[in-house]
Amino acid sequence: AQPVLAVVGRPNVGKSTLVNRILGRREAVVQDVPGVTRDRVAYDAFWAGRRFTLVDTGGWEPDATGLQASVAAQAEIAMATADAVLLVIDASVGATATDEAASKVLRRSKKPVLLVANKVDDDRLLADTASLWSLGLGEPHPVSALHGRSSGDLLDAIVKAL
Ligand code: GDP
Ligand code: MG
Repeated sequence: AQPVLAVVGRPNVGKSTLVNRILGRREAVVQDVPGVTRDRVAYDAFWAGRRFTLVDTGGWEPDATGLQASVAAQAEIAMATADAVLLVIDASVGATATDEAASKVLRRSKKPVLLVANKVDDDRLLADTASLWSLGLGEPHPVSALHGRSSGDLLDAIVKAL
């Protein structure tokens, strides 16, 4: 079976946009309204001669107090069921308590975890992404899922990790 890559993170950080960027087509549902992605949708992806299954997560998140727990739970599930995990952060917001909770879960992973700093649409936010080293998941990968900036570099890192 082909390796499975799960994409996790808070609502609205751009998980589905990134999934579409990786797929090279618009299949994952992108919405300004958080929570529109149904739980765990799988797609076939292909890069540099490697096939893998890409799992977009989302789900209907509950009230604000439940958000941190539900993102952490998604991270647990991803860690248990996928071969590698992408944690997506909104670099225009920076690391939130929810991002930190998800990171804490994923730091226990024996599988590869890649930290994606999304929404780096231009150079302005590049320097800030260095602060995301504090999440303890290694080097942040700055990308703009919307514009495609550095998504090739991220895909290279992904297939190396799988
Ligand atoms: P998800 O809830 O994590 O799946 O996030 P979505 O993919 O649905 O995106 C949420 C919002 O963020 C949408 O309005 C996207 O257009 C926007 N978005 C996603 N990626 C980027 C990006 O790289 N730059 C900017 N500026 N906006 C983005
Ligand atoms: Mg989504």
